[in-house]
Amino acid sequence: MPGLTPLTASTCLPAATTSWRPGSWSWSPMVKPQDYSSDQDRQRTLARILAALPAGTPILVSACLLGEPCRYDGRDNGLPAVLALADRFILCPICPEVAGGLPIPRPPAERQGRAVRTAAGEDVTAAYRLGAAKALTLARDRGIRLAILKAKSPSCGRGQVYDGTFSRRLVPGDGVTSECLEAKGIRVFTEKDLPSQGR
Ligand code: SF4
Repeated sequence: MPGLTPLTASTCLPAATTSWRPGSWSWSPMVKPQDYSSDQDRQRTLARILAALPAGTPILVSACLLGEPCRYDGRDNGLPAVLALADRFILCPICPEVAGGLPIPRPPAERQGRAVRTAAGEDVTAAYRLGAAKALTLARDRGIRLAILKAKSPSCGRGQVYDGTFSRRLVPGDGVTSECLEAKGIRVFTEKDLPSQGR
């Protein structure tokens, strides 16, 4: 039945039966000089995909978009347009940063080339990679081929991320989890690609 997996701390983690193991996903370099399609193209494409999906199809979703207060500052990014998808689909929430072992709250971090660091210079790349691997395992375990993740995040962003200078400047690129999922054939969109949201 379509619906929403209950949002508890444990639902931000893959089930205990997942097949993830260290080294099961190999890290690839970060920002690809990739030609991302236009905003309108992405919105049209996502609309087409959603219209064609059978009811009850599982979709991976950033937990913060579903109201889980898992952001670095302990807040959420709950969005009615994302929650409304639960009327037709099974939404599987994950917060890759929490799944990777980071606490709530935590210092904000940004991608800097292949690494992810906080403004104070702490290297948190390993936690981001672990979270990405767990998101991939969750998706595979549940047969998920589509993800709707939070725009601009160093984990979940797709197409644009902050440039690593903590000055709110955006550059082309993906968050660590989005990059991992896309590399393994799982289509990643953001909430900005949903109809009426805009970028
Ligand atoms: S954007 Fe992704 S990593 Fe950041 S709080 Fe939301 S779900 Fe977690």
